[in-house]
Amino acid sequence: MVRNLAVLRIVEVGFEDRDLLEVVSRGVRSKLGFRTIVSFEPSIPQESFDESRGQYISNILLSWISKKFSGLVLGIVDADAYAPGLNFVFGQAQLGGRSAVVFLKRLRPEFYGRPEDEDLFLMRVEKESMHELGHLIGLGHCPDRKCVMSFSNSIVEVDLKGSDFCPRCYLLLRRLQAAGRGLP
Ligand SMILES: [Zn+2]
Ligand SMILES: [Zn+2]
Repeated sequence: MVRNLAVLRIVEVGFEDRDLLEVVSRGVRSKLGFRTIVSFEPSIPQESFDESRGQYISNILLSWISKKFSGLVLGIVDADAYAPGLNFVFGQAQLGGRSAVVFLKRLRPEFYGRPEDEDLFLMRVEKESMHELGHLIGLGHCPDRKCVMSFSNSIVEVDLKGSDFCPRCYLLLRRLQAAGRGLP
């Protein structure tokens, strides 16, 4: 297990779901060795909303999160978002930076016309959170389709991969953390 004294803040932006927070916190503590603090932000900043597309703009939200909080932060937003050049994103992170964000709307089975499935939904949230935090610590994408750092262009690919780092990514993660990445 990776161990360090780093603290990661997990913020739910615009909603409050304590069960979901607990699932993400647990994953972050056991897989990345962070201590976690959690908080809630009542609303999503409107300047990050693109009315013409009905989606939030991921990078604007990411810089808002960076400005609003100090230290390492993972924002969770119950909405749909895109980044310039892409139709949508499941999440985004500043590579080797301080903040990451995960968007929930496309992780829900209902979005694809399927019945609600809380376990499946929470598993997807955990995978995407680990993926973005991997980027935050400095990992790139991994060619191993089962590794949590593999790139997912669709929900099918999210479901295909696991929630763990492959041995190669895990080793790199430990090296980056030992070198001070992921330390406040
Ligand atoms: Zn990625
Ligand atoms: Zn990997």
